[in-house]
Amino acid sequence: MFKKFSYAIGIIFFVIFAFLILKNANLSSFIDSIENKTFDLRQSIMINEGAKKPNQDIVIVAIDDATYEYILDTYGEWPLPRDIYADIINYLEKQNPRAIAFDLMFVKSIKSKNLADEALIKAFKKYDNIFTSMNFDNQSEDLRTPPKLPDKIKINVENNSRIDFSQLTFTNCRTILQGILDATSNIGIINVSRSDDGILRKMPLVVKYQDDYYPQLALKVGLNYLGEPHNSYEIDKNSNFRIADRNIYLDNDGSAILNWYGPANTYTYIPMYKLIKASKGSRLDYDFSNKIIYFGSTASSLFDIKTVPTGKIYPGVEVQATYVNNIIDNNFIRKVHRGYTIALSILLSLLIASVVSRVNSAFSASMMSFSTYFIYLLIAYYAMRFENLWLEVIYPLIFSIFGFTCAYIIKYLIKSRDFEQQYKLATTDGLTELFNHRYFQEQIRMQVEQCKRYNTNFSLIIIDIDFFKKFNDNFGHQSGDAVLREVAQTLKRNVRATDIVCRYGGEEMSIILPNMGEKEAYSTAQKICDRVAQNKFRLANGKETNVTISLGVSTFPQDGKTAEELISAADKRLYDAKNNGRNQVGGI
Ligand code: GH3
Ligand code: MG
Ligand code: MG
Repeated sequence: MFKKFSYAIGIIFFVIFAFLILKNANLSSFIDSIENKTFDLRQSIMINEGAKKPNQDIVIVAIDDATYEYILDTYGEWPLPRDIYADIINYLEKQNPRAIAFDLMFVKSIKSKNLADEALIKAFKKYDNIFTSMNFDNQSEDLRTPPKLPDKIKINVENNSRIDFSQLTFTNCRTILQGILDATSNIGIINVSRSDDGILRKMPLVVKYQDDYYPQLALKVGLNYLGEPHNSYEIDKNSNFRIADRNIYLDNDGSAILNWYGPANTYTYIPMYKLIKASKGSRLDYDFSNKIIYFGSTASSLFDIKTVPTGKIYPGVEVQATYVNNIIDNNFIRKVHRGYTIALSILLSLLIASVVSRVNSAFSASMMSFSTYFIYLLIAYYAMRFENLWLEVIYPLIFSIFGFTCAYIIKYLIKSRDFEQQYKLATTDGLTELFNHRYFQEQIRMQVEQCKRYNTNFSLIIIDIDFFKKFNDNFGHQSGDAVLREVAQTLKRNVRATDIVCRYGGEEMSIILPNMGEKEAYSTAQKICDRVAQNKFRLANGKETNVTISLGVSTFPQDGKTAEELISAADKRLYDAKNNGRNQVGGI
Protein backbone atom coordinates (compact mmCIF):
# COMPACT_ATOMS: atom_id res chain seq x y z
CA MET A 1 0.00 0.00 0.00
CA PHE A 2 2.67 2.46 1.07
CA LYS A 3 4.89 1.26 -1.78
CA LYS A 4 2.16 1.82 -4.37
CA PHE A 5 1.47 5.19 -2.86
CA SER A 6 5.14 6.18 -3.05
CA TYR A 7 5.39 5.08 -6.66
CA ALA A 8 2.24 6.99 -7.52
CA ILE A 9 3.65 10.13 -5.90
CA GLY A 10 6.91 9.54 -7.80
CA ILE A 11 5.07 9.30 -11.11
CA ILE A 12 3.02 12.41 -10.39
CA PHE A 13 6.23 14.32 -9.61
CA PHE A 14 7.66 12.99 -12.83
CA VAL A 15 4.78 14.24 -14.95
CA ILE A 16 4.87 17.68 -13.32
CA PHE A 17 8.63 17.82 -13.85
CA ALA A 18 8.41 16.85 -17.53
CA PHE A 19 5.63 19.34 -18.08
CA LEU A 20 7.58 22.18 -16.44
CA ILE A 21 10.66 21.51 -18.56
CA LEU A 22 8.81 21.25 -21.83
CA LYS A 23 6.59 24.26 -21.25
CA ASN A 24 9.41 26.54 -20.19
CA ALA A 25 10.69 28.15 -23.37
CA ASN A 26 13.94 29.41 -21.86
CA LEU A 27 14.73 26.09 -20.31
CA SER A 28 13.98 24.08 -23.43
CA SER A 29 16.00 26.39 -25.65
CA PHE A 30 18.86 26.07 -23.19
CA ILE A 31 18.54 22.30 -23.38
CA ASP A 32 18.41 22.52 -27.18
CA SER A 33 21.64 24.50 -27.23
CA ILE A 34 23.40 21.80 -25.21
CA GLU A 35 21.86 19.16 -27.46
CA ASN A 36 23.34 21.02 -30.44
CA LYS A 37 26.77 20.74 -28.85
CA THR A 38 26.35 16.98 -28.56
CA PHE A 39 25.47 16.97 -32.26
CA ASP A 40 28.74 18.81 -32.98
CA LEU A 41 30.63 16.30 -30.87
CA ARG A 42 29.09 13.35 -32.68
CA GLN A 43 29.87 14.95 -36.04
CA SER A 44 33.48 15.58 -34.99
CA ILE A 45 33.95 11.99 -33.86
CA MET A 46 32.41 10.75 -37.11
CA ILE A 47 34.81 12.88 -39.09
CA ASN A 48 37.76 11.62 -37.07
CA GLU A 49 36.64 8.07 -37.77
CA GLY A 50 36.22 8.90 -41.46
CA ALA A 51 32.59 7.84 -41.32
CA LYS A 52 31.40 9.82 -44.33
CA LYS A 53 33.40 10.21 -47.50
CA PRO A 54 32.83 13.27 -49.63
CA ASN A 55 31.48 12.60 -53.11
CA GLN A 56 34.25 12.69 -55.70
CA ASP A 57 31.90 14.13 -58.31
CA ILE A 58 32.16 17.49 -56.60
CA VAL A 59 35.11 19.76 -57.27
CA ILE A 60 35.70 23.25 -55.95
CA VAL A 61 37.24 26.02 -58.00
CA ALA A 62 38.60 28.37 -55.39
CA ILE A 63 39.02 32.09 -55.71
CA ASP A 64 41.85 31.89 -53.25
CA ASP A 65 44.46 34.42 -52.17
CA ALA A 66 46.73 33.48 -55.08
CA THR A 67 43.89 33.97 -57.58
CA TYR A 68 43.02 37.32 -56.03
CA GLU A 69 46.61 38.48 -56.49
CA TYR A 70 46.78 37.01 -60.00
CA ILE A 71 43.65 38.90 -61.03
CA LEU A 72 44.90 42.19 -59.63
CA ASP A 73 48.29 41.67 -61.32
CA THR A 74 46.84 40.61 -64.66
CA TYR A 75 43.74 42.80 -65.02
CA GLY A 76 44.51 45.56 -62.57
CA GLU A 77 41.02 45.44 -61.13
CA TRP A 78 38.60 43.54 -58.95
CA PRO A 79 36.14 41.93 -59.48
CA LEU A 80 37.25 39.87 -62.39
CA PRO A 81 35.91 41.12 -65.73
CA ARG A 82 32.99 38.84 -66.56
CA ASP A 83 34.13 37.85 -70.01
CA ILE A 84 36.91 35.91 -68.28
CA TYR A 85 34.22 33.82 -66.55
CA ALA A 86 32.71 33.27 -69.98
CA ASP A 87 36.08 32.03 -71.23
CA ILE A 88 36.36 29.62 -68.31
CA ILE A 89 32.81 28.33 -68.89
CA ASN A 90 33.57 27.72 -72.55
CA TYR A 91 36.78 25.90 -71.61
CA LEU A 92 34.98 23.68 -69.05
CA GLU A 93 31.98 22.90 -71.22
CA LYS A 94 34.29 21.21 -73.70
CA GLN A 95 34.78 18.48 -71.08
CA ASN A 96 31.05 17.95 -70.44
CA PRO A 97 30.75 18.72 -66.76
CA ARG A 98 27.54 17.81 -64.95
CA ALA A 99 27.04 21.35 -63.70
CA ILE A 100 28.90 24.58 -63.12
CA ALA A 101 27.65 26.45 -60.07
CA PHE A 102 28.70 29.90 -58.97
CA ASP A 103 28.54 30.58 -55.27
CA LEU A 104 29.05 34.16 -56.41
CA MET A 105 26.62 36.87 -57.30
CA PHE A 106 26.95 38.64 -60.61
CA VAL A 107 25.43 41.84 -59.37
CA LYS A 108 25.04 44.94 -61.45
CA SER A 109 28.30 46.32 -62.72
CA ILE A 110 29.46 49.54 -61.22
CA LYS A 111 31.56 50.54 -64.20
CA SER A 112 30.33 50.27 -67.72
CA LYS A 113 31.35 46.74 -68.46
CA ASN A 114 28.51 45.94 -70.74
CA LEU A 115 30.55 44.04 -73.27
CA ALA A 116 32.14 41.81 -70.66
CA ASP A 117 28.75 41.22 -69.02
CA GLU A 118 27.25 40.38 -72.40
CA ALA A 119 29.82 37.63 -72.90
CA LEU A 120 28.81 36.00 -69.60
CA ILE A 121 25.11 36.39 -70.36
CA LYS A 122 25.75 34.69 -73.69
CA ALA A 123 27.38 31.76 -71.92
CA PHE A 124 24.34 31.41 -69.63
CA LYS A 125 22.13 31.36 -72.71
CA LYS A 126 24.26 28.79 -74.47
CA TYR A 127 24.55 26.14 -71.72
CA ASP A 128 21.70 24.86 -69.55
CA ASN A 129 23.95 23.47 -66.81
CA ILE A 130 25.27 26.72 -65.40
CA PHE A 131 23.92 27.89 -62.09
CA THR A 132 24.31 31.12 -60.23
CA SER A 133 23.15 32.61 -56.99
CA MET A 134 21.16 35.38 -55.42
CA ASN A 135 20.63 36.49 -51.86
CA PHE A 136 17.56 37.71 -50.02
CA ASP A 137 17.74 40.15 -47.16
CA ASN A 138 15.57 42.44 -45.09
CA GLN A 139 17.00 45.76 -46.22
CA SER A 140 14.66 48.71 -45.95
CA GLU A 141 12.78 49.68 -49.07
CA ASP A 142 14.36 53.14 -48.91
CA LEU A 143 17.66 51.66 -50.01
CA ARG A 144 16.26 49.70 -52.89
CA THR A 145 12.82 48.71 -54.01
CA PRO A 146 12.15 44.99 -53.58
CA PRO A 147 12.33 43.68 -57.15
CA LYS A 148 9.77 41.41 -58.74
CA LEU A 149 11.42 38.14 -59.69
CA PRO A 150 10.55 36.07 -62.75
CA ASP A 151 8.24 33.09 -62.16
CA LYS A 152 10.71 30.65 -63.68
CA ILE A 153 13.03 30.79 -60.67
CA LYS A 154 10.29 30.12 -58.12
CA ILE A 155 9.23 26.65 -57.12
CA ASN A 156 5.87 25.51 -55.85
CA VAL A 157 5.90 24.08 -52.38
CA GLU A 158 2.89 22.63 -50.66
CA ASN A 159 3.52 22.89 -46.93
CA ASN A 160 1.46 20.19 -45.22
CA SER A 161 3.50 20.17 -42.07
CA ARG A 162 3.69 22.51 -39.10
CA ILE A 163 6.93 24.02 -40.34
CA ASP A 164 7.04 27.73 -39.69
CA PHE A 165 8.94 29.54 -42.43
CA SER A 166 8.89 32.91 -40.70
CA GLN A 167 12.63 32.86 -40.07
CA LEU A 168 13.23 32.09 -43.73
CA THR A 169 10.97 34.81 -45.04
CA PHE A 170 12.65 37.87 -46.50
CA THR A 171 11.40 41.27 -47.57
CA ASN A 172 14.04 42.41 -50.00
CA CYS A 173 16.47 41.07 -52.57
CA ARG A 174 19.74 42.01 -54.14
CA THR A 175 19.26 41.19 -57.77
CA ILE A 176 21.79 40.16 -60.33
CA LEU A 177 22.32 41.20 -63.91
CA GLN A 178 18.99 41.45 -65.67
CA GLY A 179 20.56 39.71 -68.65
CA ILE A 180 21.31 36.62 -66.56
CA LEU A 181 17.82 36.69 -65.05
CA ASP A 182 16.47 36.72 -68.59
CA ALA A 183 18.87 34.09 -69.85
CA THR A 184 18.42 31.28 -67.34
CA SER A 185 16.17 29.77 -64.73
CA ASN A 186 19.20 28.19 -63.02
CA ILE A 187 19.23 30.66 -60.18
CA GLY A 188 19.38 29.58 -56.57
CA ILE A 189 19.38 31.35 -53.26
CA ILE A 190 22.41 31.25 -50.93
CA ASN A 191 20.88 32.35 -47.64
CA VAL A 192 22.06 30.32 -44.67
CA SER A 193 20.53 29.62 -41.27
CA ARG A 194 22.62 29.69 -38.17
CA SER A 195 21.90 28.46 -34.66
CA ASP A 196 21.90 30.95 -31.80
CA ASP A 197 25.53 30.17 -31.09
CA GLY A 198 26.51 31.25 -34.60
CA ILE A 199 27.30 27.75 -35.78
CA LEU A 200 26.01 26.70 -39.15
CA ARG A 201 24.31 23.33 -38.65
CA LYS A 202 21.46 23.59 -41.07
CA MET A 203 20.64 25.08 -44.45
CA PRO A 204 17.26 26.13 -45.79
CA LEU A 205 16.06 24.12 -48.79
CA VAL A 206 13.70 26.86 -49.83
CA VAL A 207 13.19 30.41 -48.62
CA LYS A 208 10.19 32.72 -48.92
CA TYR A 209 10.04 36.07 -50.64
CA GLN A 210 6.84 37.94 -51.53
CA ASP A 211 4.79 34.82 -50.62
CA ASP A 212 6.64 32.60 -53.05
CA TYR A 213 9.17 29.87 -52.43
CA TYR A 214 12.62 30.04 -53.97
CA PRO A 215 15.01 27.09 -54.03
CA GLN A 216 18.49 27.11 -52.61
CA LEU A 217 21.33 27.03 -55.11
CA ALA A 218 22.40 23.61 -53.78
CA LEU A 219 18.85 22.30 -54.16
CA LYS A 220 18.79 23.45 -57.79
CA VAL A 221 22.15 21.87 -58.53
CA GLY A 222 21.19 18.71 -56.65
CA LEU A 223 17.86 18.34 -58.45
CA ASN A 224 19.68 18.77 -61.73
CA TYR A 225 22.17 16.05 -60.76
CA LEU A 226 19.35 13.71 -59.76
CA GLY A 227 17.55 14.38 -63.05
CA GLU A 228 14.55 15.82 -61.28
CA PRO A 229 12.80 18.11 -63.74
CA HIS A 230 9.74 18.99 -61.63
CA ASN A 231 8.98 22.37 -60.27
CA SER A 232 6.46 21.36 -57.63
CA TYR A 233 7.29 19.81 -54.29
CA GLU A 234 5.49 18.82 -51.15
CA ILE A 235 6.45 18.97 -47.51
CA ASP A 236 4.45 16.15 -45.95
CA LYS A 237 3.01 16.18 -42.47
CA ASN A 238 6.15 14.52 -41.09
CA SER A 239 8.17 17.51 -42.30
CA ASN A 240 9.73 15.59 -45.18
CA PHE A 241 10.52 17.58 -48.28
CA ARG A 242 9.68 15.03 -50.93
CA ILE A 243 11.94 14.67 -53.93
CA ALA A 244 11.04 11.65 -56.04
CA ASP A 245 12.59 8.67 -54.23
CA ARG A 246 13.87 10.54 -51.19
CA ASN A 247 12.57 12.50 -48.26
CA ILE A 248 14.65 15.34 -46.93
CA TYR A 249 13.71 16.01 -43.34
CA LEU A 250 13.21 19.66 -42.41
CA ASP A 251 13.58 20.96 -38.87
CA ASN A 252 10.70 23.02 -37.52
CA ASP A 253 12.26 26.27 -38.79
CA GLY A 254 12.30 24.90 -42.33
CA SER A 255 15.99 23.98 -42.52
CA ALA A 256 17.63 20.72 -43.43
CA ILE A 257 20.26 19.48 -40.98
CA LEU A 258 23.54 18.87 -42.77
CA ASN A 259 25.80 15.89 -42.32
CA TRP A 260 29.38 17.09 -42.44
CA TYR A 261 32.39 15.73 -44.25
CA GLY A 262 35.76 16.81 -43.27
CA PRO A 263 38.17 18.08 -42.35
CA ALA A 264 37.98 21.41 -44.19
CA ASN A 265 39.34 21.35 -47.76
CA THR A 266 38.41 17.73 -48.21
CA TYR A 267 37.05 18.23 -51.68
CA THR A 268 39.36 18.64 -54.63
CA TYR A 269 40.26 22.32 -54.69
CA ILE A 270 41.58 23.95 -57.84
CA PRO A 271 42.72 27.58 -57.62
CA MET A 272 40.77 29.59 -60.16
CA TYR A 273 43.85 31.30 -61.62
CA LYS A 274 44.86 27.93 -63.06
CA LEU A 275 41.51 27.78 -64.90
CA ILE A 276 41.96 31.33 -66.16
CA LYS A 277 45.32 30.28 -67.55
CA ALA A 278 43.90 27.01 -68.94
CA SER A 279 41.13 28.93 -70.73
CA LYS A 280 43.92 30.85 -72.45
CA GLY A 281 45.62 27.69 -73.60
CA SER A 282 47.97 26.57 -70.82
CA ARG A 283 47.86 22.95 -69.68
CA LEU A 284 45.68 21.84 -66.73
CA ASP A 285 45.76 18.18 -65.84
CA TYR A 286 42.31 17.72 -64.47
CA ASP A 287 39.36 15.94 -65.97
CA PHE A 288 36.15 17.89 -65.36
CA SER A 289 33.82 15.53 -67.20
CA ASN A 290 30.71 14.67 -65.20
CA LYS A 291 31.79 16.83 -62.28
CA ILE A 292 29.76 19.33 -60.36
CA ILE A 293 32.06 22.33 -60.39
CA TYR A 294 31.48 24.80 -57.61
CA PHE A 295 33.01 28.27 -57.83
CA GLY A 296 33.46 30.21 -54.64
CA SER A 297 35.85 32.38 -52.74
CA THR A 298 38.23 31.01 -50.16
CA ALA A 299 40.52 34.03 -50.06
CA SER A 300 41.08 35.27 -46.53
CA SER A 301 40.65 38.84 -47.74
CA LEU A 302 37.16 38.05 -49.00
CA PHE A 303 36.15 36.65 -45.65
CA ASP A 304 33.49 34.16 -46.68
CA ILE A 305 33.90 31.67 -43.85
CA LYS A 306 31.49 29.68 -41.72
CA THR A 307 31.86 27.98 -38.36
CA VAL A 308 30.50 24.47 -38.67
CA PRO A 309 29.72 21.73 -36.10
CA THR A 310 33.06 20.03 -36.52
CA GLY A 311 34.63 22.98 -34.72
CA LYS A 312 36.41 24.02 -37.90
CA ILE A 313 35.97 27.00 -40.15
CA TYR A 314 34.86 26.09 -43.64
CA PRO A 315 34.87 28.39 -46.65
CA GLY A 316 31.32 29.22 -47.70
CA VAL A 317 31.79 27.34 -50.96
CA GLU A 318 32.64 24.14 -49.10
CA VAL A 319 29.41 24.51 -47.12
CA GLN A 320 27.64 24.67 -50.48
CA ALA A 321 29.56 21.61 -51.67
CA THR A 322 28.63 19.78 -48.47
CA TYR A 323 25.03 20.74 -49.02
CA VAL A 324 24.96 19.42 -52.59
CA ASN A 325 26.79 16.32 -51.39
CA ASN A 326 24.04 15.74 -48.80
CA ILE A 327 21.41 15.99 -51.51
CA ILE A 328 23.06 13.70 -54.05
CA ASP A 329 24.18 11.10 -51.51
CA ASN A 330 20.96 11.36 -49.49
CA ASN A 331 22.93 12.08 -46.34
CA PHE A 332 20.82 14.63 -44.50
CA ILE A 333 20.37 14.20 -40.79
CA ARG A 334 16.93 13.31 -39.59
CA LYS A 335 16.13 14.51 -36.09
CA VAL A 336 13.88 12.21 -34.12
CA HIS A 337 10.56 13.86 -33.39
CA ARG A 338 10.35 15.54 -29.97
CA GLY A 339 7.40 13.39 -28.93
CA TYR A 340 9.41 10.19 -29.51
CA THR A 341 12.38 11.72 -27.68
CA ILE A 342 10.24 12.38 -24.63
CA ALA A 343 8.72 8.90 -24.80
CA LEU A 344 12.21 7.43 -25.06
CA SER A 345 13.42 9.59 -22.17
CA ILE A 346 10.56 8.36 -20.01
CA LEU A 347 11.29 4.74 -20.90
CA LEU A 348 14.96 5.18 -20.12
CA SER A 349 14.26 6.86 -16.80
CA LEU A 350 11.77 4.11 -15.87
CA LEU A 351 14.37 1.51 -16.74
CA ILE A 352 16.92 3.27 -14.54
CA ALA A 353 14.36 3.75 -11.76
CA SER A 354 13.57 0.04 -11.82
CA VAL A 355 17.28 -0.81 -11.70
CA VAL A 356 17.67 1.45 -8.68
CA SER A 357 14.67 -0.02 -6.90
CA ARG A 358 15.68 -3.63 -7.60
CA VAL A 359 19.41 -3.60 -7.03
CA ASN A 360 20.30 -3.50 -3.36
CA SER A 361 23.84 -2.18 -3.44
CA ALA A 362 23.92 1.55 -4.02
CA PHE A 363 27.19 1.24 -5.90
CA SER A 364 25.97 -1.43 -8.33
CA ALA A 365 22.70 0.42 -8.84
CA SER A 366 24.59 3.60 -9.71
CA MET A 367 26.98 1.78 -12.02
CA MET A 368 24.13 -0.02 -13.76
CA SER A 369 22.19 3.23 -14.21
CA PHE A 370 25.26 4.92 -15.58
CA SER A 371 25.90 2.02 -17.96
CA THR A 372 22.29 2.08 -19.13
CA TYR A 373 22.62 5.72 -20.12
CA PHE A 374 26.03 5.09 -21.62
CA ILE A 375 24.64 2.33 -23.82
CA TYR A 376 21.96 4.76 -24.92
CA LEU A 377 24.70 7.26 -25.82
CA LEU A 378 26.45 4.65 -27.94
CA ILE A 379 23.20 3.79 -29.68
CA ALA A 380 22.64 7.50 -30.34
CA TYR A 381 26.11 7.83 -31.81
CA TYR A 382 25.77 4.81 -34.11
CA ALA A 383 22.26 5.85 -35.10
CA MET A 384 23.74 9.07 -36.43
CA ARG A 385 26.69 7.38 -37.99
CA PHE A 386 24.88 4.63 -39.82
CA GLU A 387 21.30 5.83 -40.09
CA ASN A 388 21.77 9.63 -40.22
CA LEU A 389 19.42 9.73 -37.27
CA TRP A 390 19.73 12.39 -34.57
CA LEU A 391 18.59 10.79 -31.33
CA GLU A 392 18.60 13.50 -28.71
CA VAL A 393 20.68 12.72 -25.64
CA ILE A 394 20.13 15.65 -23.26
CA TYR A 395 16.44 15.13 -22.53
CA PRO A 396 17.10 11.45 -21.88
CA LEU A 397 19.96 12.46 -19.59
CA ILE A 398 17.83 14.88 -17.58
CA PHE A 399 14.97 12.38 -17.33
CA SER A 400 17.39 9.62 -16.34
CA ILE A 401 18.91 11.70 -13.57
CA PHE A 402 15.45 12.62 -12.35
CA GLY A 403 14.27 8.99 -12.48
CA PHE A 404 17.43 7.89 -10.68
CA THR A 405 17.00 10.47 -7.91
CA CYS A 406 13.28 9.84 -7.48
CA ALA A 407 13.81 6.09 -7.33
CA TYR A 408 16.50 6.55 -4.68
CA ILE A 409 14.33 8.79 -2.55
CA ILE A 410 11.36 6.44 -2.82
CA LYS A 411 13.55 3.45 -2.12
CA TYR A 412 14.88 4.98 1.08
CA LEU A 413 11.48 6.18 2.18
CA ILE A 414 10.20 2.63 1.81
CA LYS A 415 13.26 1.24 3.54
CA SER A 416 12.98 3.58 6.51
CA ARG A 417 9.34 2.72 6.80
CA ASP A 418 10.10 -1.00 6.65
CA PHE A 419 12.67 -0.38 9.34
CA GLU A 420 10.07 1.34 11.49
CA GLN A 421 7.69 -1.54 11.00
CA GLN A 422 10.33 -4.07 11.89
CA TYR A 423 11.28 -2.10 14.91
CA LYS A 424 7.66 -2.07 16.00
CA LEU A 425 7.38 -5.82 15.42
CA ALA A 426 10.52 -6.40 17.44
CA THR A 427 9.34 -4.34 20.41
CA THR A 428 5.58 -5.02 20.53
CA ASP A 429 3.49 -7.88 21.78
CA GLY A 430 1.13 -9.06 19.08
CA LEU A 431 -1.85 -9.93 21.25
CA THR A 432 -2.08 -6.92 23.55
CA GLU A 433 -0.09 -4.42 21.49
CA LEU A 434 1.80 -3.54 24.66
CA PHE A 435 5.59 -3.41 24.57
CA ASN A 436 7.10 -6.87 24.87
CA HIS A 437 9.32 -8.42 27.49
CA ARG A 438 12.52 -7.60 25.66
CA TYR A 439 11.63 -3.93 25.39
CA PHE A 440 10.67 -3.92 29.07
CA GLN A 441 14.10 -5.26 30.03
CA GLU A 442 15.82 -2.68 27.87
CA GLN A 443 13.80 0.21 29.23
CA ILE A 444 14.06 -0.66 32.89
CA ARG A 445 17.83 -0.83 32.55
CA MET A 446 17.87 2.50 30.80
CA GLN A 447 15.74 4.01 33.57
CA VAL A 448 18.15 2.73 36.21
CA GLU A 449 21.07 4.30 34.36
CA GLN A 450 19.31 7.60 33.83
CA CYS A 451 18.09 7.89 37.38
CA LYS A 452 21.54 7.13 38.71
CA ARG A 453 23.04 9.80 36.50
CA TYR A 454 20.47 12.53 37.08
CA ASN A 455 19.66 11.53 40.63
CA THR A 456 15.98 11.07 40.01
CA ASN A 457 13.59 8.21 40.71
CA PHE A 458 11.15 5.95 38.94
CA SER A 459 8.70 3.24 39.88
CA LEU A 460 7.74 -0.15 38.60
CA ILE A 461 4.36 -1.89 38.87
CA ILE A 462 3.97 -5.60 38.15
CA ILE A 463 0.45 -6.87 37.54
CA ASP A 464 -0.94 -10.41 37.51
CA ILE A 465 -4.51 -11.36 36.67
CA ASP A 466 -6.21 -13.29 39.46
CA PHE A 467 -7.32 -16.88 38.88
CA PHE A 468 -6.78 -16.52 35.20
CA LYS A 469 -6.30 -20.21 34.71
CA LYS A 470 -9.79 -20.71 36.05
CA PHE A 471 -11.13 -17.97 33.80
CA ASN A 472 -9.66 -19.75 30.80
CA ASP A 473 -11.06 -23.03 31.99
CA ASN A 474 -14.51 -21.55 32.45
CA PHE A 475 -14.85 -19.36 29.42
CA GLY A 476 -12.24 -20.63 26.98
CA HIS A 477 -8.94 -19.23 25.80
CA GLN A 478 -10.48 -16.85 23.28
CA SER A 479 -12.37 -15.05 26.00
CA GLY A 480 -9.12 -15.15 27.98
CA ASP A 481 -7.33 -13.39 25.13
CA ALA A 482 -10.05 -10.76 24.90
CA VAL A 483 -9.71 -10.11 28.62
CA LEU A 484 -5.93 -9.76 28.27
CA ARG A 485 -6.46 -7.14 25.59
CA GLU A 486 -9.07 -5.36 27.63
CA VAL A 487 -6.87 -5.24 30.75
CA ALA A 488 -3.99 -3.95 28.63
CA GLN A 489 -6.20 -1.10 27.36
CA THR A 490 -7.35 -0.28 30.89
CA LEU A 491 -3.71 -0.03 31.99
CA LYS A 492 -2.80 2.25 29.14
CA ARG A 493 -5.79 4.48 29.76
CA ASN A 494 -4.89 5.01 33.38
CA VAL A 495 -1.22 5.96 33.14
CA ARG A 496 0.67 8.93 31.67
CA ALA A 497 1.66 9.00 28.05
CA THR A 498 5.29 8.72 29.07
CA ASP A 499 4.76 5.58 31.15
CA ILE A 500 5.84 2.34 29.52
CA VAL A 501 3.22 -0.44 29.70
CA CYS A 502 4.56 -3.90 28.81
CA ARG A 503 3.37 -7.47 28.72
CA TYR A 504 5.77 -9.18 31.05
CA GLY A 505 4.69 -12.67 30.01
CA GLY A 506 1.56 -14.85 30.19
CA GLU A 507 -1.09 -12.91 32.08
CA GLU A 508 1.46 -10.71 33.78
CA MET A 509 2.04 -7.09 32.82
CA SER A 510 4.38 -4.37 34.00
CA ILE A 511 4.48 -0.59 33.97
CA ILE A 512 7.59 1.59 34.17
CA LEU A 513 6.72 5.00 35.56
CA PRO A 514 9.58 7.44 34.98
CA ASN A 515 10.01 10.26 37.47
CA MET A 516 7.49 8.78 39.87
CA GLY A 517 8.01 8.32 43.57
CA GLU A 518 6.67 5.57 45.82
CA LYS A 519 3.58 7.37 47.03
CA GLU A 520 2.31 8.36 43.64
CA ALA A 521 3.13 4.91 42.28
CA TYR A 522 1.00 3.26 44.96
CA SER A 523 -1.96 5.48 44.25
CA THR A 524 -1.61 4.86 40.50
CA ALA A 525 -1.48 1.12 41.22
CA GLN A 526 -4.58 1.38 43.41
CA LYS A 527 -6.43 3.35 40.74
CA ILE A 528 -5.59 0.70 38.16
CA CYS A 529 -6.65 -2.09 40.47
CA ASP A 530 -10.03 -0.42 41.03
CA ARG A 531 -10.64 0.34 37.39
CA VAL A 532 -9.93 -3.24 36.29
CA ALA A 533 -12.24 -4.61 38.97
CA GLN A 534 -15.03 -2.24 37.87
CA ASN A 535 -14.59 -3.08 34.22
CA LYS A 536 -17.28 -5.45 32.93
CA PHE A 537 -16.57 -7.74 29.96
CA ARG A 538 -19.28 -9.06 27.77
CA LEU A 539 -18.70 -12.72 27.01
CA ALA A 540 -19.55 -14.55 23.83
CA ASN A 541 -22.65 -16.01 25.48
CA GLY A 542 -23.87 -12.51 26.32
CA LYS A 543 -23.18 -12.71 30.04
CA GLU A 544 -21.12 -10.00 31.71
CA THR A 545 -18.24 -10.74 34.01
CA ASN A 546 -15.10 -9.09 35.35
CA VAL A 547 -11.58 -10.01 36.40
CA THR A 548 -9.42 -8.66 39.17
CA ILE A 549 -5.71 -8.11 39.33
CA SER A 550 -3.03 -8.15 41.98
CA LEU A 551 -0.21 -5.62 41.86
CA GLY A 552 3.30 -5.20 43.28
CA VAL A 553 5.13 -1.85 43.34
CA SER A 554 8.80 -0.99 43.72
CA THR A 555 10.63 2.32 43.46
CA PHE A 556 14.18 3.26 42.54
CA PRO A 557 16.40 3.78 44.48
CA GLN A 558 14.92 2.74 47.85
CA ASP A 559 13.69 -0.75 46.75
CA GLY A 560 16.68 -1.67 44.67
CA LYS A 561 19.61 -0.26 42.70
CA THR A 562 19.45 -2.67 39.75
CA ALA A 563 16.68 -3.82 37.43
CA GLU A 564 16.79 -7.32 38.98
CA GLU A 565 16.44 -6.02 42.51
CA LEU A 566 13.53 -3.79 41.53
CA ILE A 567 11.73 -6.58 39.68
CA SER A 568 12.08 -9.02 42.55
CA ALA A 569 10.95 -6.37 45.07
CA ALA A 570 7.80 -5.72 43.01
CA ASP A 571 7.33 -9.47 42.54
CA LYS A 572 7.52 -10.02 46.26
CA ARG A 573 4.79 -7.44 46.91
CA LEU A 574 2.67 -8.97 44.16
CA TYR A 575 3.04 -12.30 45.96
CA ASP A 576 1.95 -10.56 49.16
CA ALA A 577 -1.11 -9.19 47.38
CA LYS A 578 -2.00 -12.70 46.18
CA ASN A 579 -1.59 -14.08 49.65
CA ASN A 580 -3.67 -11.31 51.16
CA GLY A 581 -6.70 -12.26 49.07
CA ARG A 582 -5.89 -10.78 45.61
CA ASN A 583 -7.58 -7.73 43.93
CA GLN A 584 -5.21 -5.40 45.76
CA VAL A 585 -1.86 -3.65 45.71
CA GLY A 586 0.68 -5.61 47.74
CA GLY A 587 2.64 -4.11 50.63
CA ILE A 588 0.38 -1.19 51.48
P1 GH3 B 1 -3.22 -16.55 40.37
O1 GH3 B 1 -4.36 -15.77 40.85
O2 GH3 B 1 -2.45 -17.19 41.43
O3 GH3 B 1 -2.34 -15.75 39.49
O4 GH3 B 1 -3.85 -17.73 39.53
P2 GH3 B 1 -3.68 -17.92 38.00
O5 GH3 B 1 -4.55 -19.01 37.52
O6 GH3 B 1 -3.88 -16.62 37.29
O7 GH3 B 1 -2.17 -18.33 37.90
P3 GH3 B 1 -1.36 -19.30 37.01
O8 GH3 B 1 0.02 -18.74 36.83
O9 GH3 B 1 -1.47 -20.67 37.60
O10 GH3 B 1 -2.01 -19.36 35.62
C1 GH3 B 1 -1.81 -18.43 34.64
C2 GH3 B 1 -2.68 -18.74 33.48
O11 GH3 B 1 -2.72 -17.69 32.53
C3 GH3 B 1 -2.22 -19.96 32.76
C4 GH3 B 1 -2.59 -19.69 31.33
O12 GH3 B 1 -3.69 -20.52 30.95
C5 GH3 B 1 -3.09 -18.29 31.32
N1 GH3 B 1 -2.48 -17.58 30.25
C6 GH3 B 1 -1.20 -17.20 30.16
N2 GH3 B 1 -1.01 -16.54 28.94
C7 GH3 B 1 -2.22 -16.54 28.30
C8 GH3 B 1 -2.69 -16.09 27.07
O13 GH3 B 1 -1.94 -15.51 26.25
N3 GH3 B 1 -3.99 -16.24 26.76
C9 GH3 B 1 -4.86 -16.87 27.59
N4 GH3 B 1 -6.11 -17.01 27.25
N5 GH3 B 1 -4.43 -17.34 28.75
C10 GH3 B 1 -3.16 -17.20 29.16
MG1 MG C 1 0.85 -15.69 36.66
MG1 MG D 1 -2.55 -15.11 37.61
